[in-house]
Amino acid sequence: MRFSLQFVVSVVALLLALASAVAFYFAIGREFTIPLLLVAVVNLEAVAILVFLMTRGIISPLQRIRSIMGKVGEGDFRTRVGLLPTQEMQELGLALNAMISHLESVSEKEKRVDRLRTEFLSLAAHQLRTPLVEVKWALQVILDGERGTLSATQKELLQKTYASNEGMITLIGNLLDITKIEEGKYLSNLSLVQIEDMCVSIVELHAEEASRQKITLEILPPPEPLPKVLVDEEKIKLAIQSLVGNAIHYTPPGGRVTASFFSDTKEVGVAVQDTGIGIPKEEQARIFEQFFRATNAKKLGKIGTGLGLYLAKNIVEAHGGRIWFVSEEHKGSDFRMALPLR
Ligand code: ADP
Repeated sequence: MRFSLQFVVSVVALLLALASAVAFYFAIGREFTIPLLLVAVVNLEAVAILVFLMTRGIISPLQRIRSIMGKVGEGDFRTRVGLLPTQEMQELGLALNAMISHLESVSEKEKRVDRLRTEFLSLAAHQLRTPLVEVKWALQVILDGERGTLSATQKELLQKTYASNEGMITLIGNLLDITKIEEGKYLSNLSLVQIEDMCVSIVELHAEEASRQKITLEILPPPEPLPKVLVDEEKIKLAIQSLVGNAIHYTPPGGRVTASFFSDTKEVGVAVQDTGIGIPKEEQARIFEQFFRATNAKKLGKIGTGLGLYLAKNIVEAHGGRIWFVSEEHKGSDFRMALPLR
């Protein structure tokens, strides 16, 4: 018959405890002798040491298991539980290892599906963009009157079609950018850039649209020269454009959009403030989610895809930066992004 170490230790501890009790009985109850008292004290100490050893034998493997589970929780599935002191613990270790292996294979499968989804999205978006751009140019030619004059109603109808087509092209463009982010090849062209110059060109790009919508668009120069940042210029431009574009898009005529800068020793950033429709408080937590659009924007019939901010967040975070906002419905919004100085 085999006894586990725990069983043997428990029996020895019990015997020692019994011996101590008897020794105490003789030492204190009947005849008080110093040797008996010593035996009792030594026995009690031996029991204490055995109990300590037993608990250490249980606690340290538990701590090992806890640290492994912590790694698994962080998505590191390479780790496994090694040999454990008792049979029960060994069984627990084997069960945990089986669970980790299962999680590892599920995670691999998910990654494969994700990769396929991204490849499909990328392919579909590329295929769709070409005909949409062709439609755009054809509509442009007709609207410019190069194929004969149009009646007012014909022109209005074609202008609406043109706007919808533009929306589709933007959506496809955003989808392509998202697939690029997901493919992990996003930050390809890093260079040191002056964020102020970048913003000035973006604001200039939106000047006509702003004046058409009777919005005052201004850019406040920084109080002192800004340090350059190491970024993928094209991508950061997309992110800032998304903030400026949104500010104009969601601000009613007569409003104001202001771009400004801030910096400290660690980061440099851009703020885009507007006096627009704002974002309802209860929806603010979801604003950077893919395809999410606030109800007030939808109610006003504002066209959008719900991808611009998701994209901006991905771009900024891929640079190790942060993006956030403060907004109040009917009052306006203040969107900010900050990039680290390396
Ligand atoms: P889109 O503008 O194409 O819908 P975005 O991802 O850029 O997508 O924005 C998501 C949503 O956030 C918008 O639909 C709108 O509801 C809200 N939003 C973004 N910027 C502003 C802003 N400056 N003012 C008010 N609402 C905004």
